[in-house]
Amino acid sequence: MSLRIKIWGARGSLPTPHLPSELNQRFTHLMHDFFESGYKKKSDVQTFLEGLPLYKLGGYGGNSPCIEVNSDRDQMIIDGGSGIRLLGYQLMNGPCGKGKGEVHLFFTHFHWDHLIGLPFFTPLFIPGNKIHVYSVQKDLPEVFQTIFKKPYFPVSIDSLEADIIYHQLEPRKPLKFGDMVITPYQLDHPDPCWGYRVESGGKVYSHCVDTEATRISEKELGLDLPLYQNVDLMLFDAQYTLMETIEKINWGHATASIGLDIAIREKIKKVLFMHHDPASSDEKIAAAEAEARRYYQIQKKAEESGFFEVDWSFAFEGQEIEL
Ligand SMILES: [Zn+2]
Ligand SMILES: [Zn+2]
Repeated sequence: MSLRIKIWGARGSLPTPHLPSELNQRFTHLMHDFFESGYKKKSDVQTFLEGLPLYKLGGYGGNSPCIEVNSDRDQMIIDGGSGIRLLGYQLMNGPCGKGKGEVHLFFTHFHWDHLIGLPFFTPLFIPGNKIHVYSVQKDLPEVFQTIFKKPYFPVSIDSLEADIIYHQLEPRKPLKFGDMVITPYQLDHPDPCWGYRVESGGKVYSHCVDTEATRISEKELGLDLPLYQNVDLMLFDAQYTLMETIEKINWGHATASIGLDIAIREKIKKVLFMHHDPASSDEKIAAAEAEARRYYQIQKKAEESGFFEVDWSFAFEGQEIEL
């Protein structure tokens, strides 16, 4: 029994491709580093590349949020950011390509970065597919009608070939879904936004992205506290550096140290941070990770014995985790 999570989009707010000038600069640096490290031969290239940190090579990715969660029997997708386009191609290799697919797509909220990939999610255009969509918010059908409507997109909702089936979730009420139990809990984000606790086979995944985490203590979290309890993997919002969160109060996003505080206190085994800011280069995201690493070490030193070690890092597009 296991839960497998794949990150198809780790960037927040807006899909953020690399600029040609950035790639040019990166390749130039890489080639300099290659020769300065003493490598000379073609056969050394792979060894050199394997030793590089993430930010020097592929980086953290530019697609906006989309997460695939697989249990032994079932699959759910969280959010339809631009990352869902590539997930759609993968699904087309299975029953979706033959019009026999069933997709279960859960939304946290309806900001553009979580919807923008939907017009390019190919299973929607294949007759026979059933696309189940879920949200706590009541206005999911209106959201779909707005996306698939001229002049925003040439294909209207009525012309989509797949069947779209709308499901409204109740706040904090578990939904039994195949071999998973999925429960929405509220995050601290405008309009509002709901995170998900996903349980299957004794493993727990907690999706806490698009949150400012203004409520931190157990008392403040109240009815939403179970989102953070007995969790194997938490995906958390780290759009900003610590300094930026001070400048951007009420912008709806958090920083890694807040997630670490919660994870240490609640003994969350593993944490990945995402929703990286479009204004942040890969180098800046890596620097924010290093800053969070220093914060973590200070907390560890202060607590000494009894400190709960959390396995954590900043998430990147294409990352897969098995629980
Ligand atoms: Zn977002
Ligand atoms: Zn948002």
